[in-house]
Amino acid sequence: MQKTAGIHHITAMVNDAQRNIDFYAGVLGLRLVKKTINFDRPEVYHLYFGNDSGQPGTVITFFPWPKQSKGRIGTGQVGVTSYIIPVGSMRFWEKRLKKFGIKFFSFERFGEKYLALQDPDGLEIELVERKEGPVNHWSFGDIQPDTAIKGFGGATLISAKPNQTADVLETILGLECLGQEEGFLRFKSEATLGNIIDIKLTPSVRGLMGAGTVHHIAWRAKDEEEHLQWRTILQEKGYYPTEILDRNYFKALYFHEKGGILFEIATDSPGFAVDEPMNELGQKLMLPSWFESKREELEDTLPSVEVRVLEGDK
Ligand code: ZN
Repeated sequence: MQKTAGIHHITAMVNDAQRNIDFYAGVLGLRLVKKTINFDRPEVYHLYFGNDSGQPGTVITFFPWPKQSKGRIGTGQVGVTSYIIPVGSMRFWEKRLKKFGIKFFSFERFGEKYLALQDPDGLEIELVERKEGPVNHWSFGDIQPDTAIKGFGGATLISAKPNQTADVLETILGLECLGQEEGFLRFKSEATLGNIIDIKLTPSVRGLMGAGTVHHIAWRAKDEEEHLQWRTILQEKGYYPTEILDRNYFKALYFHEKGGILFEIATDSPGFAVDEPMNELGQKLMLPSWFESKREELEDTLPSVEVRVLEGDK
């Protein structure tokens, strides 16, 4: 059976581009690996943050749009995005979050200790220590490779139909069910990053899409052949996948699973170094070829943003 390695990327909606960069790059220390536009709405940025090389399983992406009304986290959405921090770095992160005035609390699930916090738009984030996952060599502020976020630990899905969502994870995406604990059903995929998916089983409010909510979660396909194969499998199982779309850095297809969550399947390649050198990722506004003729107009409309060292790190 064809199996996904795990999460490819997670995409969310927020209100302000600079505030978004200040949090994900400035506080969490992720690398801004791509600054581009929403290909479906070119007047809106599409910002990508990941590890040093923007590997699949590390990348969170945002559509920052000031006019976007606030959403509500609930059913039909990814409720929480979790990140892996190196073993022994929890105290460092507690101190760092305090330094920036970010509230957090600790809890345990499946025998692991988590720190829970929110980003400035209200997205739910967790940090969990694990030894899995390659070291992230991107340093920022006082974050060094021994404390840097490695990538996604996984995500918590809030489904309107948890059993049906569980079925997609197991029978289509090929995740293994690890068991149930305190209202969460846990699944695991084969990658070392972005591989632990929890489905929340207790009731939740209905999710409303908007700023401060996740738009979709993308799963990894190792190549274009596997990607096509998944489209066929989805159709055979009664889902309605979109056509395969060229997102420049990967090929994508989307479908709604039956619990209401928008799923994407994305190819690992070509990746973020396809249009700019690896050591310069994220510095310039990158446009797909079909938008190059509008560059000047777009650069005038989009707010100027930068990765900057925040007050707490000076
Ligand atoms: Zn996506």
